[in-house]
Amino acid sequence: MYNYIQHYINGQWVDSTGNETIDVINPATEEKIGEISSGTKEDLDKAVQAARDAFPAFSQTTKEERADLLDRIADEYEKRKDQFIEVIMAELGSPVTFTTNVQYQMGLNHFRTAAKLVRDFDFTENRENSFIQKDAIGVAGLITPWNFPTNQASTKLASAFAAGSTVVLKPSTETPFAAVLLKEVFEAAGVPKGVFNLVNGTGSTIGNGISSHPDIDFVSFTGSGGVGTKIMENAAQDIKKVSLELGGKSPIVVLDDADVDYAAKTAISHIAGNTGQVCTAGTRALVPKSMHDDFIQAIKKYLPEYPVGDPKDESTFTGPQVSEDQWNTVQDYIQKGIDSEATLVAGGTGKPEGLETGYYSKLTVFTNVKPEDTIAQEEIFGPVLSVITYNDLDEAIEIANGTIYGLAGYVVGNDPDALTKTAKSLRSGRIVVNNEQADFTAPFGGFDQSGIGREWGDYGIEEFLEPKTIVGLP
Ligand code: NAD
Repeated sequence: MYNYIQHYINGQWVDSTGNETIDVINPATEEKIGEISSGTKEDLDKAVQAARDAFPAFSQTTKEERADLLDRIADEYEKRKDQFIEVIMAELGSPVTFTTNVQYQMGLNHFRTAAKLVRDFDFTENRENSFIQKDAIGVAGLITPWNFPTNQASTKLASAFAAGSTVVLKPSTETPFAAVLLKEVFEAAGVPKGVFNLVNGTGSTIGNGISSHPDIDFVSFTGSGGVGTKIMENAAQDIKKVSLELGGKSPIVVLDDADVDYAAKTAISHIAGNTGQVCTAGTRALVPKSMHDDFIQAIKKYLPEYPVGDPKDESTFTGPQVSEDQWNTVQDYIQKGIDSEATLVAGGTGKPEGLETGYYSKLTVFTNVKPEDTIAQEEIFGPVLSVITYNDLDEAIEIANGTIYGLAGYVVGNDPDALTKTAKSLRSGRIVVNNEQADFTAPFGGFDQSGIGREWGDYGIEEFLEPKTIVGLP
């Protein structure tokens, strides 16, 4: 059992001022694996005060000192590899192979990348008659979702520490234990008291408390669009800066010269990876009409290579949804697809055979989906693919750009001109050509309703800084 009924404030565990707790469930077994404290406004106030008190000294450290700190954090993170994997598997139901290669690794990459980048980062700049100095923004409130428990927190924390900002982190109530391990990493690495504070609790109390707190200077949020709107409304009251990493409905544009097997496997991996609970997942496959039948055959052929099952089994590709609520949401969307004029190719409602315990969904593929259908427009956050056909590349690009989102886009094919035209025409923050691997130094974030601001690398560090112009400096 993981039981953390205290909050980490000013370098120590502190009792909550309230008595309420929140159960944490392993979604693969439906069993309780621990509990956390449901923090109060008073708990949050204490954490914000600790972060404020620590800010003057931490913001004055040199970039070399902060780079060394980030390297020590990365070292301590690596020492706890097995613990991170165990915790993320238990709280998220994330399969062991994916947890090791992706979940664990992404968190580490952010600390290593920030350490490297901040050494070369220019915090000052001379222009015509001005001197520009980039100051740490102050106290940052970090609010994270459950789908990548270390990655989402680490990208924010690495950037904040690189910039010299102090923080209060509120993780998701579904996956709070990875953040406790991060706290152990920071303690071992020598993060000064008050620089990192951890308050657990609900979105309505702690989340709302962060976005409306007068002593928090910046809210960095990752989560759903609806909550993003509430955060902006609250933050507007005292003109607080916000960065929002929100949802997506990303297209995979399959060009007419693409290898059909490669394209089908690419599409399946998007809905199967992390059980489709990925903000950047390519959930709309746009396929040339002439390739449609071969593509669907290839989808049917390769689906069994992505088994759904026990997260502890190394051959499992897809685990359960994070919670019963999330499972119900996914089931509702699958039913909406069945009720539409789309054709169900694979999967459907209900649990896969033999997986009655745990919040497992079937890998589900619909074809003959219209671009305007609900399942092609709304973020499902589950293993559901919509296949949409197109006549020519211009039409494909129009369909690809035809949602309220703009987080990511994917292009699969061979012709360099068509790849380039498509990649450059997609209105999204991150475009991936032929499954190229991620670049952790490059900006991550969304156009349109996928968000405001950027994370990762130097762009992420900039979010935690305020540029100050001084003219007439003697
Ligand atoms: P969510 O918006 O329900 O919750 C995210 C966090 O916000 C949680 O910690 C939650 O407790 C907190 N919260 C809830 N209500 C709040 C409020 N009123 N004020 C402040 N905080 C509040 O999202 P989720 O279900 O945890 O995650 C799934 C969503 O996150 C999806 O929409 C997904 O696309 C998005 N997401 C985006 C990215 C990205 O980088 N763009 C990455 C991962 C997930």
